[in-house]
Amino acid sequence: MVEIDYYQVLEIEKNADKQLIKKAYRKLAMQYHPDKNPGDKEAEEKFKTINEAYQVLSDDEKRSIYDRYGKAGLEGHGGFSRGGGFDDLGSIFEEMFGSAFGGGARSRQKKKSYTYNIDNAINITVEFNEAVFGCKKTINYKYKKACSTCSGTGAKDGKMSACPHCGGHGQIHMRQGFMTFAQTCPHCSGSGEIISSKCTKCAGKGYEEVSDEFEINIPEGIDNGNRMRVSGKGNIAPDGTRGDLYVQIKVKEDKHFVRYDNDIYIEVPLFFTQVALGDTIQIPGLRGELELKIPQATKDKEQFRFKGEGVKSVQGYGKGDLIVQINIKYPTSLNSEQEELLKKLQESFGIESKPHESIFESMFEKAKKWFS
Ligand SMILES: [Zn+2]
Ligand SMILES: [Zn+2]
Repeated sequence: MVEIDYYQVLEIEKNADKQLIKKAYRKLAMQYHPDKNPGDKEAEEKFKTINEAYQVLSDDEKRSIYDRYGKAGLEGHGGFSRGGGFDDLGSIFEEMFGSAFGGGARSRQKKKSYTYNIDNAINITVEFNEAVFGCKKTINYKYKKACSTCSGTGAKDGKMSACPHCGGHGQIHMRQGFMTFAQTCPHCSGSGEIISSKCTKCAGKGYEEVSDEFEINIPEGIDNGNRMRVSGKGNIAPDGTRGDLYVQIKVKEDKHFVRYDNDIYIEVPLFFTQVALGDTIQIPGLRGELELKIPQATKDKEQFRFKGEGVKSVQGYGKGDLIVQINIKYPTSLNSEQEELLKKLQESFGIESKPHESIFESMFEKAKKWFS
C-alpha cells in the first residue's frame, strides 16, 4: 500500500509555510466539500484526506514528527483522527469558513424568549409637493407590547417547557456524510424552549397591539423609497425596552413634474411656429413662474436647465435643477387659407425649403451607374 503524501494531497512544497498550507487547504476543502458534491464518494474520500493532511501539517509538532518518521510516527501518538470523532474536524472547518455551511459557532447564542421583534415598520404615502417642501403628518399606527398574562412568552401562565427536539439546547447536530454540524433548532428557533399550552389571552402570540398616533415632521426633499427612523416608537419588549419605528416613504407622482433624484423635469409643448420664430413664455416652476426664452431653431426634445430650481437635498446640501424639455407640436389639419400661407412660405425659402434635393441628386446619379 502506497502511503499518502500529505504535501502532495494539499498540492504544496515540503517547505511551504503555515500561510500557504492554510490557503491550499481552504481551496481544496471548498472544492471537495460534501455539500458541493452530494453523493460523490470519491470527493468525500478526497475531502477526508485533505482534512487529515491539514490536521497534521497545520500543527508544528505533528508536522515535524511526520517529516521525520512519516505517518507511522504519528500513530500511537494520538496524532490524528480519521473516521471517528470528526467533531473536531468539523470545528476546523467551521473556524475557517464561518457558518457558510449551516449554523456555525456564532449562532450558538440563545435567543431571547419573546415572540416578536421590537422594531416596527410602517409605510406612509405623501403628495408630491409634501415631499418636495416637507410637511407634518399624523401617523396612526399600532405597536406591540407584551401580553400581560404570559409576559410575552405566549405560553399559558408563562410556563415554557424544554424543546423535545433539541433537549433544551437550542441546537441540533446534523450529520452531513461524516461531518457534524451544529444547527439552530428549527422547532424552537434556538431558544431551547417551547410552548406546551398556549396563553388564552393572546392565543399564543405573546403580545397585544396598542393603537397610537403621533406627529412626524417629513423633511423637505424627502424622496420615494426613503426611510425614516423614529426612535422609541417601536414595539415594547417584556423587559420594557422599546424598539424603533421605521417609516417608509412613498411619494405620489405629479401630473406634470417628474422627479429624478433632486432634479425636476417638465415637458413644454410648443407650436412649430413658436420654435421657428423664437418666443419667450412663462412656465410653472416649483416655487413660482419662470421665464423660458426659446431661441429660434430650437429642436424637438431640446432641454433647458434652470439651475437650483429643483428639489432641496434632504441631506441638507444643495438643490437640484429644473429641466425643461421641448415637445414640438405640428398642426394636425390645415384649412385652405393656412395651406395657402404655408405653401407661400415654403416657396419664399426657395432651395432651402427642400434640403433633401441637393443631397439626393448626387446619390441618384451614383445609383444609376450601379444598375446600368
Ligand atoms: Zn399571552
Ligand atoms: Zn429546540
